[in-house]
Amino acid sequence: MNKKQKKMLARIVVAIALLVILSLLKINEPLNFILYMIPYGVIGYDILLKAVHGIKNKQVFDENFLMAIATVGAICLADYKEAVAVMLFYQIGELFQSYAVGKSRQNITSLMDIRPDYANIEENGTLKQVDPDDVEVGTIITVVPGEKVPIDGIVVEGESDLNTSALTGESVPREVKVGDEIISGCINMSGVLKIKTTKEFGESTVSKVLELVENASSLKSKSENFISKFAHYYTPIVCYSALALAILPPLALTLMGKPAQFVDWLYRALTFLVISCPCALVISIPLSFFAGIGGASKEGILIKGSNYLETLSQVKYIVFDKTGTVTKGIFEVNGVHHSKLAQDLLIEYAAHAENYSNHPIAKSLKRAYGKEIDESRISDVKEIGGYGITCKIDGKDIAVGNDKLMKMMNIEYADCHSVGTIIHVAINNEYAGHIVISDVIKEHAQEAIEQLHKLGMKRLVMLTGDSDKVARDVASKLNVEEVHSQLLPADKVAEVEKILANKNPDDKVAFVGDGINDAPVLSRVDIGIAMGGLGSDAAIEAADVVLMDDDLLKISKAIKISRKCLRIVHENIYFAIGVKIICLLLTALGKANMWVGIFADVGVMVIAVLNAIRALMVKNL
Ligand code: ADP
Ligand code: MG
Repeated sequence: MNKKQKKMLARIVVAIALLVILSLLKINEPLNFILYMIPYGVIGYDILLKAVHGIKNKQVFDENFLMAIATVGAICLADYKEAVAVMLFYQIGELFQSYAVGKSRQNITSLMDIRPDYANIEENGTLKQVDPDDVEVGTIITVVPGEKVPIDGIVVEGESDLNTSALTGESVPREVKVGDEIISGCINMSGVLKIKTTKEFGESTVSKVLELVENASSLKSKSENFISKFAHYYTPIVCYSALALAILPPLALTLMGKPAQFVDWLYRALTFLVISCPCALVISIPLSFFAGIGGASKEGILIKGSNYLETLSQVKYIVFDKTGTVTKGIFEVNGVHHSKLAQDLLIEYAAHAENYSNHPIAKSLKRAYGKEIDESRISDVKEIGGYGITCKIDGKDIAVGNDKLMKMMNIEYADCHSVGTIIHVAINNEYAGHIVISDVIKEHAQEAIEQLHKLGMKRLVMLTGDSDKVARDVASKLNVEEVHSQLLPADKVAEVEKILANKNPDDKVAFVGDGINDAPVLSRVDIGIAMGGLGSDAAIEAADVVLMDDDLLKISKAIKISRKCLRIVHENIYFAIGVKIICLLLTALGKANMWVGIFADVGVMVIAVLNAIRALMVKNL
């Protein structure tokens, strides 16, 4: 509990104690009134201030106003106990809410810490990752493809395309070359860039995403939008109806020459007002979503907004990328074939070419090489998504990649008969042989697919840029019925488009991926899921859900969390509205007093908030 919450708890305890003491004593007016004003003030002063503030700002009709009007009304009718009780329950609900929000926020923050931002600085020919806070203005930093630019600066070497969509919403990549200014937060898509920094470490994506999750204002779920729209019209209607109920019947009675019974009608109007207050919904619905996001965070699942939680619960189609998503992305070298050079030399060239790449293949080749990379030998690096890498090493033109890359460069290559991913190497446009590498399927992949089948998915599809042989091998081991291979990033989008075009609009499509080349699909589907550990910044930025530990089982977990959360939301909506309707009927029949109203309003609110907190508990789903 933080300081504010402790203070609130103290206020609640004091108010309860005073309320109990006062209700045990028999005190005459006006002292009774004065004494009751003490707990009322203790527990409700901030609500009254907020209500006055709202009136001043011409935003009258909110839950503070309703609470203020209802309690002041009750006091006018000498129902002091009721007035204090309304404020008391309301504050208890608020306290629970603030506790749950704090808990969720803590979960999210600690989750974000797993993925710190960094800047690469070259020292004695190798790249070193440093805390961007420690980078002084004027330092040269290196940003490799797939990475986020950590600090604003000017390009001093290299050229590339930048994805600025996180900052500008503009989806067309921006080309940059030497002399161009670039801002932090963009993702480097293709070439290696050296940047001279012009500012201190500014906005990090981490804090931006956190902000996004916390405010999620532009990313509200349909239910939340419905509730806030509903409250917008509903609250004033309730207030005017209560006013009408207090004035019109006594007026009519007077005109008919009967006793006006003004106090009775005022009492009924106030009860009506208290019952109809929508605060149970206004408070518990957003809280359910935030608690759901917080609960997911605890499990290593980052969900970037409540709308995604809602969509996730409706997912029926899941499309997987292969390398780095269902496989570990840790390749072992199985052999080197058709090499005119010594095998080690071929691997040396390949490892150097891959030096700046974040692709799982690149990391594996560097591991296979096992020695220090001499960066001074490398220049003009270009990474081509779905193809491979071209660069210069020791002044020679080097190409490292798949069949497609060789075809694109008109280099004749030798086919391979082993099952594995084939990395061809060409030197000065001449074929130099290939390296066969193979990957292993992630531990939980099989179980994860089974879980998803159990959750009632209609279709599971695997898409990959890798060869057909490897793709079929993996798909059959995992029991994924549909697989498409040798796809370029654009082909992956096309395959997903086909699925999107041929489905029921209520069924949502998720894509799970890790690479820079997956970013276009991740932003195209209803819900993009990225690997947070292995995944590139580009994929993480483009995704709506990030699995921090790359565990595929977390997909079914995330879906279960979302379904639980939505179930809670619906429970709260039906429960709150149901109780209110029943209590309103009782009031209309003259069978309800203020205490029924208090239960229908703040009592229901406390129950709904407690129910919403269940969304935080996701461990055993
Ligand atoms: P997947 O869709 O399975 O994740 P990618 O689309 O990332 O695979 O890559 C598809 C293919 O493109 C790889 O199997 C590889 O042949 C080639 N490729 C991509 N990036 C590289 C690279 N950095 N080095 C070598 N080959 C690469
Ligand atoms: Mg991949």
